[in-house]
Parts: sequence; structure tokens; C-alpha cells
Amino acid sequence: MYKTMAINAGSSSLKWKCYEMPEEKVIASGIVERIGLKESLFSIDYNEGQAFNMVINIDTHEVAVEMLLEQLIDLAIIEDYSEITGVGHRVAAGGESFADSVLITEGDLKEIERLAELAPLHNPANAMGIRAFKQVLPDIASVAVFDTSFHQTMAKEQYLYSIPIEYYEKHHARRYGYHGTSHKYVSQRAAEILNKPVEKLKLISCHLGNGASVCAVEGGKSVVTSMGFTPMAGLTMGTRSGDIDVSLLPYLMEKENISDLNDMMTILNKESGLKGLSGFSSDMRDLFEQEEENERATLALRIFEDRVKKYIGAYAATMNGVDAIIFTAGIGENAIQTRHNIISGLGFLNVVIDADENNCRGIEKRISAKESGVDVLLIPTDEELMIARDIERLR
Ligand code: AMP
Repeated sequence: MYKTMAINAGSSSLKWKCYEMPEEKVIASGIVERIGLKESLFSIDYNEGQAFNMVINIDTHEVAVEMLLEQLIDLAIIEDYSEITGVGHRVAAGGESFADSVLITEGDLKEIERLAELAPLHNPANAMGIRAFKQVLPDIASVAVFDTSFHQTMAKEQYLYSIPIEYYEKHHARRYGYHGTSHKYVSQRAAEILNKPVEKLKLISCHLGNGASVCAVEGGKSVVTSMGFTPMAGLTMGTRSGDIDVSLLPYLMEKENISDLNDMMTILNKESGLKGLSGFSSDMRDLFEQEEENERATLALRIFEDRVKKYIGAYAATMNGVDAIIFTAGIGENAIQTRHNIISGLGFLNVVIDADENNCRGIEKRISAKESGVDVLLIPTDEELMIARDIERLR
């Protein structure tokens, strides 16, 4: 028996899961928050129900990793570091350089840092997590799993923007897509649930969380996805605008006296989406709570549903058909009404939801009616498991 760790490092956080392999059993998980700030929060869940929590100043990711590994031993989750055979890191942007996960070399790490120009908030933090683990566990396999890799199968027709082609040739300006690990996991699970080879299926995967994207998956490969050059594009999200007419930028900057483009981008990234529309929250649960009395909350919910519905219709057209629609992530797994409203508006695709079957949260389940021509599946995503599997494959 040996262990692997799946890591998701943010700029001030480190989320992790420890797996016993090859059984793929989660034996512990945890999060370190507020790294670099006062009173960092350090928590571990283990032994199926036990918890360890601590508030302490943690200055760097490296210190967080050292503390985490020490606690794994103190809590008898592992006996010795040598039990850990691999560490896998979620990395946001792999650009055109990484069409698959890799066993990270120093060159790869430099490339991940260079690709910060595509994901300025995420890649530097991901790289920091990789360096921290390499420092503390230098001899252990270190794997990078990219949110973009799954979408590297997109054809030029799908990933090119209709702008002068030299911008792609010179600067790699194109659609990359994100959430690839999640779309890949749920599409593989869908094939297993439907008991059909993934090569024979046309799937539309809706990853609806705080960040949200839709992906058309044909024959197990990403055909097109709604996020673009960055994760700003596509659906209405928690705080991101999704698709807008770019001409709004200079117009609003002039009207609102915003001189710095970065400020405008921050508004589109952090103050828009459900938060901007409702005027009070990016969280779907808050919007549902106020749906009855607050018109803006209702409007935000309907706009969210509309955008998902439109992408499903568009991607059914792109693939010239669809066998199953999948819902996953926080909203997709939990927002019963959102799923109901989206599917109810897609009758023309011969898809019918079963209201009773749909009345559930967070479990793997078929939620379409028996007579539906298209299956609708609820599949909780598991990006960490995909990371653990990639460590196994590559180490
Ligand atoms: P994620 O980014 O995948 O963690 O998803 C976060 C989103 O899921 C937030 O908008 C939450 O409001 C939403 N969410 C979580 N639980 C529920 C729930 N029970 N009902 C509706 N939305 C939920």
C-alpha cells in the first residue's frame, strides 16, 4: 500500500487530498488557508470523521507543506514520507505546451511560470505549490495536471477567434478552455453509467460552479468548450461576466471614468456575473433564498439558466446531436431548480427531465424521464481522483 497526494494550490491556500493507492481511497484531506497572512487556518479531515484544526501563522507555501507532512505523521495518517510515491498538482493553464499531464522537469516548471501570462492569478500559485513540495520531498514523482490539456483536441475551427490570424501565429491568441480535468472525468463516468464506449458518445458536460463552463465531448474528446483564452468567457458565472461584446469596454470606461484597463477587467472578473446582476451575491444559494421577493435575484437566476441552455443548444448543433447532458460542480450537483429549468427549455432536443428523479443533490444519478431521447446525468465531479490516476500513470 502506498499513498499519493493531489494538490490544488492557490495564491494564499493549499487544498489537498491524500489517497491510498491503487485502491483510490481518500484517507485524508485538508486545506491551509490565509498563507502569508496572520492567523492562517490549517485543517485536516481523516479517519472517516475525525478532524484536526489549528490557527497559526504560516508565512509561505513551503512552511505549509512542511507542517502538513509533519501532521500526516503525527496523526498516524502515514508512518514515513517514503510511503508517498507521488504528488500531483492542478495547474490552470498549460497553453499549447501541455496536451497531457507531465512528470514535471525544471523546464516544465519554468514553462508553467511563463504561462502565467494566460492565468496570472493561478499559474504562479500553482508553480509555488510545485516548488514547495519539490523542496520538501525532492525525490518524489511530481506531476502536473492542466485544466487546459483535455481541450487540446479542439480543431482550429473551434479554437481560433475571428481576428487577424497572425495574432494566433505570433502570440498564440486562441481559445484554450478550462475545467478540462472535470469535463474529462464526468464524460468518462457518463460512458460507464450508460454502459457504452465513450468513443461512440456525443456528450455535453455542464460544469456549473462558481466558475462555469460547458463542453462538447465527442468520442471522448473535447470538441469545443465555452471558456476561451482565459476563464472569463462563456457562461454567466459567480462573479465573471462570461461572453460580452468587447466594444462595451471602451464605452463603459469612458462613461464611468475608468482610465486603467486592469480596473475594468477586475470589474468583469470580480464584480459581474450573478453578483453584478443581483447586486448582492455571487452565491446561488443566496439568490434562491431571495428569489420570491427580489426581482434582481430572479433575473440573475433566469439569465444563468438561459446561458447554459444556449450553449447546450449550440453544442448539440456543433456535434449534430447529443446522447447525454451531464451536470456537475456546486450548482450542477445541487441546484435542483436550475437543472429543471435548463432541461425544461430544451424540449426541441427531445430531452425530458424527470422531476422526481431530479429532486436530489450530490449523487450520481440519471435524472431524465424514461421517454427522453437524451439521457440527463448528474455526476459529482472528482478532479482530485483524476490527478491521483495521472500520478499512477506517469510516475
Ligand atoms: P463550486 O465552485 O463548484 O464549489 O460551486 C459553488 C456554487 O455552487 C455556488 O454558487 C453555490 O451557491 C452553489 N451551490 C452549492 N450548494 C448549493 C445548493 N445546495 N443549492 C444551490 N446551489 C448550491
